[in-house]
Amino acid sequence: MLIGAPIKERFNMKTAQIENNILIVKEREDENLDGRKGAIVKVLGCGLCGSDIVKLKHQLVKDGTVLGHEIVAKIIDIDSETSFKKGDVIVTSHHIPCGKCEYCKNGNVSMCRHFKQTNIRPGGFSELVFVSEEHLQNVAYLKPENLTNIEASFYEPLGCCIRAVKRANLKNNSTALVIGLGSIGILMAQALRAFGMNVVGCDLISSRVELLKNYGIEAFNVNEMCESIKADCVFMTSGSDKAIETALKYVRDGGKILVFSSTPNNFGYANNEIYYRELTVLGSYSPSPSDLKTSLDLLKNKEVKVSGLSTIYPLEKIQKAINDTVDNKIMKAYISIE
Ligand SMILES: [Zn+2]
Ligand SMILES: [Zn+2]
Repeated sequence: MLIGAPIKERFNMKTAQIENNILIVKEREDENLDGRKGAIVKVLGCGLCGSDIVKLKHQLVKDGTVLGHEIVAKIIDIDSETSFKKGDVIVTSHHIPCGKCEYCKNGNVSMCRHFKQTNIRPGGFSELVFVSEEHLQNVAYLKPENLTNIEASFYEPLGCCIRAVKRANLKNNSTALVIGLGSIGILMAQALRAFGMNVVGCDLISSRVELLKNYGIEAFNVNEMCESIKADCVFMTSGSDKAIETALKYVRDGGKILVFSSTPNNFGYANNEIYYRELTVLGSYSPSPSDLKTSLDLLKNKEVKVSGLSTIYPLEKIQKAINDTVDNKIMKAYISIE
C-alpha cells in the first residue's frame, strides 16, 4: 500500500474480496483514478451489514467484488471543491440519488437508477477507497468529535432505519412494534422513540430482549408477549415465518407493516388479512441524503446509542465475522482496518 500517493497514480491495497462464496483477503491494484475529482481515503473501520451477508450467501454479486459500505475513513489525498481536506476523518454512505428522475420526484430515492449505480470504490472492506466528488458533496460528513469510529460507523445503517420511520409516516405517540432485535432492531426502536413513538420490541433471543430494555425501551420475548398489544405499525427487521405470523397477530386492524428484511422463501403476506383487515404493507430500503443527515444528528446528540452492539474483527478475520453474525453469536461486526 502506498499511503500519500498522488491521486493520479495506481495504488495497491489489501482488500477482502469474494471468491467462490467466501471472502479472501488479498492485495489488489485498483484502476487508474486519473482525472476524477474526489478523495482517496484510508479506511479505519467498516461495519458488516446484513445486506453484505445476503449478497454473499445468495451469490448476488460476482467474484472479485469488495463488499462493505459503512465506512469511517481518513482522507489521505483529495482533489475537491468541497471543504474537506487531507487528514479529515469522515463518514460516508455509498449511493446518491439524482434528484431529477420520476423515482426521486416521487420520494423513492433508493429506486433511482443513478442511486443504484453510484458506489464507493472498490468497497469498504479495503485499506483504501475512492470516494467521488459527488459523494463528498452529498453524503459525506466529518466524523463528530464526540463519536468513536465504531459509533460513527452506524451512520449509514441508522440512516436506513430513519428512512423506514419516515416512510411509515406515523402520528406522534403511535404504538410501534419492532420485530427482531438484532443491531438494526435496536437502532430502529431507538429511532422510533426519537421520533416520538411508543415503542415495544420483541425477539426470540432473551439476551436481545434484555439489551433493548437496557436502552430504556419495553421489550418481550415473542413467546411471552402481552396479548393486548395492538401496534399502529409493525417494523419487520426479521423475515422469519415466525416474524410474519407475529406481525399479523399484533398489528391493529387498519394498521401498517413496514417490511425491512428479506424472507428466505420470498413468502408474502396473506392477501385476505390485508383485504379484510385493511392493512397497509410497505417496504423501505436505503436512505436518502436527508435521512443520513438525521442519522448523524441522532448519533451526535446521543438520542440513539450504539454502545455494546459491536464486536471488533481485523480485516484478516472477516470471514469469521460473517460466520459469527450468521450464527447469532454477535450483534454486529465492525471490521477494523487501522
Ligand atoms: Zn448497511
Ligand atoms: Zn433519481
